[in-house]
Amino acid sequence: MIIGALEAGGTKMVCAIGDENGNIIERTQFPTETPAITMPQLIAFYKDKGALALGIGCFGPINPDKNSKTYGYITSTPKLAWRNYNIVKAFHDALKVPIGFDTDVNGAALGETAWGALSGCEVGIYITIGTGVGVGVCINGKPLHGLMHPEGGHIFIKRLEGDDYKGNCPYHLDCFEGLAAGPAIEGRFGKKAYELQNVSEVWDIEAHYIAQAICNYIFCYSPGRIVLGGGVMHQEQLFPIVRAKVKEYLKGYINAKEILDNIDSYIVPPKLGDNAGIKGALKLGFMAIN
Ligand code: ADP
Ligand code: ZN
Repeated sequence: MIIGALEAGGTKMVCAIGDENGNIIERTQFPTETPAITMPQLIAFYKDKGALALGIGCFGPINPDKNSKTYGYITSTPKLAWRNYNIVKAFHDALKVPIGFDTDVNGAALGETAWGALSGCEVGIYITIGTGVGVGVCINGKPLHGLMHPEGGHIFIKRLEGDDYKGNCPYHLDCFEGLAAGPAIEGRFGKKAYELQNVSEVWDIEAHYIAQAICNYIFCYSPGRIVLGGGVMHQEQLFPIVRAKVKEYLKGYINAKEILDNIDSYIVPPKLGDNAGIKGALKLGFMAIN
């Protein structure tokens, strides 16, 4: 079965054709300009490829509620050209196939649940630490929505004593994203994050925030496993520091052997690597058919 997949990001659009087993047959990408420029390029890519559905993992916030009048819209995004844009309708009108639609991080969580590190988890969480911070949650193999969708990048966490970086979230200033996304590392230290690889203070501060956030997700969602991805997590030295701090901050309150004895396989990198999002979009497309 041929399915189309789109990982719609703030800087680039990753397009693929694949199958229901997560195999990618063809892929390409386009820069994210305005809908007027970018949508015709995307539609031309999918057109006449025989896809029976299209799955979209999209930057957000979005409206994934099929009962809402504004289902399929990208909503309060800071990317103004895409604000209140009905991306689902645009694809549906052009391709005339079922469209699966979710956030990019819910898509990545779904991809890891279907074919990666979250396989078998009743509750699985995918966290990306990149240009922003996003959190996707899958429960029983389905992305969590509720009122809208989780926005776990914007939770409020305690500052590390002595860290006086004001934060850079355009909405909340010093929420988790405002203190810990890639641009926050660069704002705090005045250098590109990858240039700071050998400065241990940078990663101690970063791990302090990531670990607190993970404790909050453990308390709230009770996940079976947590995937940590995104550009910043290419700094692999972060993993052991984050794991140690999670254990420290939980103070033994969550008495689970998966955390106490086996945290190396509880907080893990994406098994699908940089393909988690696009494979999750394939799964979204497949789920739109069934
Ligand atoms: P996006 O979030 O835009 O999809 P990424 O997940 O690649 O893209 O995140 C980009 C952010 O991650 C940038 O702020 C960049 O500084 C940071 N980043 C990318 N690669 C690295 C790296 N090797 N080490 C540390 N930070 C990185
Ligand atoms: Zn915020």
